[in-house]
Amino acid sequence: MTGLLLIEDVVTEYRTGGRTVRALDGASLAVGAGETVGIVGESGSGKSTLGLLAGRLLPRTATCPRGRVLVDGQPVLELADDKIAALRRERLAFVPQDPIGALNPTLRIGRQLRLALRGTGADPAALLDQVRLGPHVLRLYPHQISGGMAQRVAVAMAMARKPALLVADEPTAALDSQVREEILTLLFTLAAEHGTTVLWLSHDLGGVGRRCERVAVMYGGRIVEEGPTADVLAAPRHPYTEALLAADPARVKDGTRLHTIAGTPPVLAGEPPGCVFAARCGAREDDCEAVRPQTRTAGGRTLLCHHPVTAHPEETAR
Ligand code: ATP
Ligand code: MG
Repeated sequence: MTGLLLIEDVVTEYRTGGRTVRALDGASLAVGAGETVGIVGESGSGKSTLGLLAGRLLPRTATCPRGRVLVDGQPVLELADDKIAALRRERLAFVPQDPIGALNPTLRIGRQLRLALRGTGADPAALLDQVRLGPHVLRLYPHQISGGMAQRVAVAMAMARKPALLVADEPTAALDSQVREEILTLLFTLAAEHGTTVLWLSHDLGGVGRRCERVAVMYGGRIVEEGPTADVLAAPRHPYTEALLAADPARVKDGTRLHTIAGTPPVLAGEPPGCVFAARCGAREDDCEAVRPQTRTAGGRTLLCHHPVTAHPEETAR
């Protein structure tokens, strides 16, 4: 596997109004070229922060006191401004959570596409055609298009330069589910055509199951379970993954009770002493609250848990 993106033990903190929020608490993830990876987890788990990190696109209020981020082996957090600008332009692309907000309200769509395509010689109308939008959209301003159209424009702009890595942050605001599926299908189809690696930040476990080879489950700013999607969804080993699956309305069969995860996700101010899920975990034991879990790997799966749901035969005794 060629390491396209490597995130290693990253801590990210936002400072707002004299308060510190630790959004990433030692997050680690390795993504190979051409892979499709879904990042799932409840709101506030740190998905967007992790995605933005890949392009050093965090707001000024954010700092990263610990960890490394490599794209193509280049240290993203330390690169000179011209180098990071080149990396963003030539290798990376982002579909933001709020595509209308990310478009420039004062410029027509056509002008924004031409700016995105600068130097490639590509035709903006052809780009729109790839995302099933007619050429008339070139003349429109962002406020004149629907949320679904803005998503398509965002996908077109992101794919314009055939990026090596696409970070797609799923809109949490309700798009019509059929429109949403169409846009995702477009995005993954274009990515497959261009050999683009996809990091899809999502709330949709079923969708990740259908579209991504690997899944990383985030909780409290760390990746608590990661592995081949089919394996993780069929036999989750972290109690949080298990709880998320039990709370997923799309997966619950008729007549089965939909479980919610009791309690709320944490907002961290610093490093918690033990497992951050312990407060909500049904399998909690004394060590969970006292000892911070370390990453362990078995059977192609990475896990941060003292007492996994099912023991893996390859796993050595603790
Ligand atoms: P969602 O599913 O709602 O998009 P997320 O998993 O993307 O959530 P993040 O947006 O990365 O989560 O947020 C992680 C934590 O950091 C949360 O506690 C959030 O409130 C906080 N946070 C995110 N952005 C900022 C910011 N700009 N300023 C202050 N705190 C922030
Ligand atoms: Mg987000």
